[in-house]
Amino acid sequence: MENVVIIGGGPAGLSAAIYLARANLNPLVFAGSPPGGQLTLTSEVENYPGFESILGSELIEKMRNQAKKFGARIVDENVLKVDFTRKPFEIMGSVPNFLSSSGNPPPSGESQVAKNSSPSPIRTKSVIIATGAKALWLNLPSEQRLRGHGVSACAICDGFFFRDKMVAVVGGGDTALEEALTLTKFAKKVYIIHRRDFFRASKIIQDRVFANKKIEIIYNTAVEEIIGEKHVEGIKIRQSQTDEIGQSQIKSDTISKRDTDSIRLNPIISDLKVDGVFVAIGHKPDTDLFKGQVEMDEKGYILTSMKTALENIKDQISKIKNTYQKSNISNLNKFNYNYQTATSIAGVFAAGDCADSEYQQAATAAGMGVAAALEVERYLEA
Ligand code: NAP
Repeated sequence: MENVVIIGGGPAGLSAAIYLARANLNPLVFAGSPPGGQLTLTSEVENYPGFESILGSELIEKMRNQAKKFGARIVDENVLKVDFTRKPFEIMGSVPNFLSSSGNPPPSGESQVAKNSSPSPIRTKSVIIATGAKALWLNLPSEQRLRGHGVSACAICDGFFFRDKMVAVVGGGDTALEEALTLTKFAKKVYIIHRRDFFRASKIIQDRVFANKKIEIIYNTAVEEIIGEKHVEGIKIRQSQTDEIGQSQIKSDTISKRDTDSIRLNPIISDLKVDGVFVAIGHKPDTDLFKGQVEMDEKGYILTSMKTALENIKDQISKIKNTYQKSNISNLNKFNYNYQTATSIAGVFAAGDCADSEYQQAATAAGMGVAAALEVERYLEA
């Protein structure tokens, strides 16, 4: 029987592992395959406290070594299935044989140990879910090729590299507009390329964007290709003619009806010279595995007690102001408010980007991982 299984090998999961290993709780980490999460896909990280500049993959390696040094067992495998309906919880995934037999790590290097081909479930008293979220991409071959060479999905992380340069942000939600505002602190000019003729972002952020002289908005436009061999030199954009697109038709679309098909693009193709492209078309949390097991929001982010309390308070305040739509009070009593990172299942906690659509930074994920670890400790003691 495990004390705690951590699912996820990014900053949240590994920070939790460091704390739980130092608390002698012998955590087992499923770090995923390939391991490391989003950080391993970024190049330089310059905003993680303690490191002026470090490669994302190197930062993850340091966290892994630190966790292992204190006795955390890290398995670079995906969890295939979980069962949180009864206790102890069950986790299915391929693990090295040493875990299913003695429960102790081998003297050296897990990778040399044979895998259990038909694994029996691992039983555990508690779980931390730290599976992260993936940025959505436009899925252009040029975009994938130039990631880290001018294409990014994080202005806070990479904006600094575009001082006095021309950049484009793709998207029309809160993230895109916030990314654009962040980039105005560095770049000479920021284009927002959006496929519709209106933004879905909140009004206050839209107002800030409209008031910012460095931002130029290009509506009804899709990015066809990113130009550049070794680094971004521009984008090929396809713009629709306003009179043919039928603005009123698009404006009257309900959110549920919104889809790309409703936008008819005419082939007015032009090149726009930019040095950087920030894709901000949303994230997808890696939480499919936990559907039906823990409460989630409509986008698949795991609800924690902290988030549920905050949402409900915000909801109540908005209701009073008579500006908000719906409330979900019924899920309030599923959460234990003695813990911030508790999910709707007692004993299952969540940390990092899989439970945070707002900040999604390595440092905030690490902080949430630490909080989850301390709360698992308290939970196991209780
Ligand atoms: P989002 O609200 O889902 O917006 C995604 C945007 O990208 C939309 O404008 C969408 O266009 C566009 N898009 C999607 N797929 C595209 C594609 N293939 N090509 C071109 N454009 C595409 O995502 P988000 O902005 O990341 O926000 C996620 C959640 O976090 C939201 O609930 C948001 O309110 C919240 N958030 C809040 C704050 C804040 O309050 N400070 C900050 C950031 C995020 P359409 O409009 O045409 O669908």
